[in-house]
Amino acid sequence: MLEESEARRRILEHTAPGVVIWVPLELALGQVLAQDIVGAVDSPVFDNSGMDGYALRAADAKKGALLRVGEIVQSAGEDLGLVCAAGEAIRIFTGAALPQGIDAVIMQEDVEREGDHIRVLDPVEPGENIRWRGSDACAGQILLRRGEIMSPTRIGLLASQGFPEVPVYGKPLVQVVTTGDELVEPGAPLLPGEIYNSNAPMLQTAVEKAGAVGSASHACDDPDEVRTVLAEALAVADIVVIAGGVSVGERDFVKDALTELGVVTEFWRVRVKPGKPFVFGRHPDGTLVFGLPGNPVSAYVTFSLFVIPAIRKMLGCEVGVNCVGLGELSGIAAEPMSNLGDRPHYLRGVCEGGRVRLSGTQQSHAIFGLSRANCLVRLGPGQEVLPGEMLSGYGM
Ligand code: AMP
Ligand code: MG
Repeated sequence: MLEESEARRRILEHTAPGVVIWVPLELALGQVLAQDIVGAVDSPVFDNSGMDGYALRAADAKKGALLRVGEIVQSAGEDLGLVCAAGEAIRIFTGAALPQGIDAVIMQEDVEREGDHIRVLDPVEPGENIRWRGSDACAGQILLRRGEIMSPTRIGLLASQGFPEVPVYGKPLVQVVTTGDELVEPGAPLLPGEIYNSNAPMLQTAVEKAGAVGSASHACDDPDEVRTVLAEALAVADIVVIAGGVSVGERDFVKDALTELGVVTEFWRVRVKPGKPFVFGRHPDGTLVFGLPGNPVSAYVTFSLFVIPAIRKMLGCEVGVNCVGLGELSGIAAEPMSNLGDRPHYLRGVCEGGRVRLSGTQQSHAIFGLSRANCLVRLGPGQEVLPGEMLSGYGM
């Protein structure tokens, strides 16, 4: 059985960032920049007024001075190319280009309007209320670096530079395949012995939460159907995530089907709980294949530990063997916790105010407790934790 970090190393070894695509700014949120972005224009693009007020020479604006106001107003928009003579002022609004001859803008609150004159109530300094060209950033400067995540403010920055699109790594398409005769789609009636298919929507949305594109399909426990559904998934997806049917029971047809479809198993079983069964394989066309346990808790935890890092690497994120990409848990135990087994065990926890308690029963079918959890607590083999001791693990 592979150690957890070695399993991740092998997965990442076979995973490459996706192709670089240019997406409209509005669609770039959360995606990873594939190139450095160099400023196209200065910011601000031109010297302009930072206030609604009057453009003038600061030297003319002594307290109590009376200045004639020119007839033409300079608003934001077309630069009228106005010239301001000594002893005069020009009405100006925020964002407007500056008239020639001026060195300050006095706020309208600091003057009193008297017909076609203003009286200065509060003097200004040279440069006051002027936003100089390039004072924020300059053309030619690196504004964003490859690997940075597109946020609303970075999207706004690129728009301010005139870029309609941004180069990012394409999102992988992840096909979730659930298996099992007992599974029924939510909304349909349940017959005795049946349960609802919770893994399909849970994993599909987990894929989307991780930043990829998810879709789901289902196969009953029939070798032909499993093979057909997996063949379709392999044909369209960059990653196929199979939940259930990967164990060693007589009704577990996934591994044979994968072999028949040409998928090479890189490893199965990882020394982690839950993590047995877990399969990682590769199709010769490059599609990655993950087989997860069918139990919802096990499926979700193994998805988090092993599939999310692969998705993140494809999305262009920096990923290391010890970095799952979920955020590190830091908190102290609010109750005793122990792992009597010989594998690292990930327990579902609730971390509130730095104190971590367990979230319901820790059995692998317990989806209610899973749904209440906000962290995965990692206990090493044989580890016993007393209340107040530090815990490690991941966020969820
Ligand atoms: P398997 O890995 O197929 O042996 O399934 C292990 C357990 O997980 C069984 O109790 C299944 O009924 C359950 N299970 C498998 N797939 C799903 C699913 N998609 N949704 C909910 N439970 C499932
Ligand atoms: Mg099954």
